[in-house]
Amino acid sequence: MAKIELIQGDITKLEVDAIVNAANKTLLGGGGVDGAIHRVAGPELLAECKTLNGCETGEAKITKGYKLPVKYVVHTVGPVWHGGNNNEPGLLAGCYKNCLKLAIDNDIRSIAFPNISTGVYRFPKEIAAQIAIESANEFLKQINKFDKVYFVCFDEENFSLYQKKLSNS
Ligand code: ADP
Repeated sequence: MAKIELIQGDITKLEVDAIVNAANKTLLGGGGVDGAIHRVAGPELLAECKTLNGCETGEAKITKGYKLPVKYVVHTVGPVWHGGNNNEPGLLAGCYKNCLKLAIDNDIRSIAFPNISTGVYRFPKEIAAQIAIESANEFLKQINKFDKVYFVCFDEENFSLYQKKLSNS
């Protein structure tokens, strides 16, 4: 089975086949990890994103990586947390699964995820970490063509949550 690995740091520094962007529905850039990815990738990324006509929550779209040290960026739109009764968990699971599916379709063998929805979109970090790990594990049980799947935690709180959950999974 593909190894899941935990990293603490800045996702834009990783040399993998693809990194995942926690974007918004416009795909035209934003704050947080989205802003960081666009800053490093350069204006050509925004130009390609403009051709994609946005992205629905829970879905994913792919672009090249431009000045990032990756071949591809997989853009996904996490759900905004509105209390948990609006299918937020299902939509977040969809993000992870649809990114992995798109990665397989593009022969991506190593992919790195940020902690989707846990910033501006306010998804509770503990529930989000559980969903991220479970969705990835479920997907990898079915399709196992990856060398590595990374979870990249920028903040200490997410990092220690993932550390605990991955050591138990
Ligand atoms: P969302 O709108 O999906 O909540 P954010 O970008 O606000 O997206 O936050 C998602 C996660 O990305 C947060 O946990 C935040 O700490 C993290 N993050 C912010 N910048 C970076 C970065 N450069 N590399 C990796 N993760 C990052």
